[in-house]
Amino acid sequence: MAEFDILVTGGTLPDGRVADIGITGDRIAALGDLSGSTAGEVIEAAGDLVSPPFVDPHFHLDATLSYGTPRINASGTLLEGIALWGELKQTVTVDEMVERALAYCDWAVSLGLLTIRSHVDVCDDQLRAVEAMLQVRETVKPYLDLQLVAFPQDGLYRDPTAHQNLIRALDMGVDVVGGIPHFERTRAAGDASVTELCEIAAKRGLMVDMHCDESDDPQSRHIETLAAETTRLGLQGRVAGSHLSSMHSMDNYYVSKLLPLMAEAEVSAIPNPLINIMLQGRQDTFPKRRGLTRVKEMQALGIRVGWGQDCVRDPWYSLGTGDMLDVAFMGMHVAQMSAPEEMQRCFDMVTQENAAILGLEEYGLREGALASLVVLDAGSAIEALRLRPARLAVVSKGKIVSTQPRGDATLRLPGRPKSGNRRHELS
Ligand SMILES: [Zn+2]
Repeated sequence: MAEFDILVTGGTLPDGRVADIGITGDRIAALGDLSGSTAGEVIEAAGDLVSPPFVDPHFHLDATLSYGTPRINASGTLLEGIALWGELKQTVTVDEMVERALAYCDWAVSLGLLTIRSHVDVCDDQLRAVEAMLQVRETVKPYLDLQLVAFPQDGLYRDPTAHQNLIRALDMGVDVVGGIPHFERTRAAGDASVTELCEIAAKRGLMVDMHCDESDDPQSRHIETLAAETTRLGLQGRVAGSHLSSMHSMDNYYVSKLLPLMAEAEVSAIPNPLINIMLQGRQDTFPKRRGLTRVKEMQALGIRVGWGQDCVRDPWYSLGTGDMLDVAFMGMHVAQMSAPEEMQRCFDMVTQENAAILGLEEYGLREGALASLVVLDAGSAIEALRLRPARLAVVSKGKIVSTQPRGDATLRLPGRPKSGNRRHELS
């Protein structure tokens, strides 16, 4: 009888170590030099990157793949996107949302993206998005983990039934408390919503992840309240602020006070670079602001930052593939993370840092961890970011769930090699 169900041989791990990985059942049973071992199935990964799976800490699975219905977002702004989604959700059915979400999950698996935190719109008295996403969470559970956030898209107070619907959604099994303070009618209402939502989370023992200050307004400062409420209620390490775009435009002196508050509260930050660079700064002439939060400055103070996808083919973003390497690639450009250790960190920000933000305790390439990994047609984490290459094999919970051929081109050039793959590692 074979020692392992699956053996991944000779892969290069993101930190540069070379190791074999033996998988038994849904666990990593051994990691190291396993030459001479037998296995039911062998994945030869010599020269290829073997990484723990990608994790997306911010997505909207209820809206994905709905681009163009009922029409496209002409202004390209967040607010027109919210209005469009408001129209679409009058008529959308549970079955349609389930079908679109499952199609997206297929894309995700093929790219090695095996955990997604999705915000779910609870501003609908029928809670159709909640019903649909709970159904999807169960369906994909054998191969993809979904963490759902109760998201009052139209404002906890601005929408008259949002509060009761958010509580209903949590009672139905939605995992995390969401919010959108910058969309409330006033700053005061936004801050009050942060307080109330954090109290709900504290009472129920849940994590918090709010869309926070997703605007170009330097006075949008709900992250300050979020950090203070996190500390007051003892929620340290369980709270994330998504987007934090206004921080890009804030006064530098104010930021020098704000960031230590976030560090003290252990609040994580989840910028979404593809969407932030597309939606923010739309009312600027030139020079035009980038709208991405202050990533390196937060990291320098020990604040955890993870890159999120946010949208694929929906009212806010017409493009997107589900590839977290695209997200990290955009992020590293906009945040100017070009030093080798910064590029390496960008890879970690779509893998292990996101896993830590989501509290995934069984994650990682180590003995005893859940046997989930992805083999990439690249020699290192940085090369994976540069190439965003084929995912040669994806293993989820001990099962091979996707395979893909290498991306080599066949060349017909006189006196040149017959094939090319654009790999180019420093030796
Ligand atoms: Zn979002």
